[in-house]
Amino acid sequence: MPELVFFSGTMDCGKSTLALQIEHNRSARGLRGVIFTRDDRAGEGKLSSRLGLVTNAVEAQEGMDVYAHLVGLLSEGGRVDYVIVDEAQFLSPAQIDQLARVVDELNLDVFAFGITTDFRTKLFPGSQRLIELADRIETLQVEALCWCGARATHNARTLDGVMVVEGSQVVVGDVNQTSAEVGYEVLCRRHHRREMTAAAARAGALSPDVLPVTAG
Ligand SMILES: [Zn+2]
Repeated sequence: MPELVFFSGTMDCGKSTLALQIEHNRSARGLRGVIFTRDDRAGEGKLSSRLGLVTNAVEAQEGMDVYAHLVGLLSEGGRVDYVIVDEAQFLSPAQIDQLARVVDELNLDVFAFGITTDFRTKLFPGSQRLIELADRIETLQVEALCWCGARATHNARTLDGVMVVEGSQVVVGDVNQTSAEVGYEVLCRRHHRREMTAAAARAGALSPDVLPVTAG
């Protein structure tokens, strides 16, 4: 039975790498897939992993009917054996419904990869719809770590290095970006609640009241 599978995790937990691995394993067996993505760090129409791998993808634009797109490909004689969707949290709930229809009516496996919650710890609408509709939800096993060493379960947004908890839900940036205005960092819930990023922890450790007294 074909399935709609939602692979979920924080940023930086290897989702895109796993998406590329699934693509590699299936194409090596002669299967042909269609990859959708949205707002990938490598640019429009690309699926990239932080380990440096990149492949071409179809940009799932806002308002695009992904079911109709696949029906179009098939009716032109194209071959589609499976579908991969990266950055699935950025798809609209309607597009997630279309993915479920792809599974049920086109009999294709759909593997969707995404972050569940945004920097305010709220569900992305696309991820919420995936949780509601998926046949199976897999939490990725490559766990990202908070700077304290605990399991990182939440995404923090930083603005010029300082954690922010307000702003629009979608601002494209990347983890561990130091130069860009908007960056992201994965934290454990405790440090997300305390708004303590790695930089804030370092600054705290260097603040005058905890500096060792030096002879001078
Ligand atoms: Zn922590």
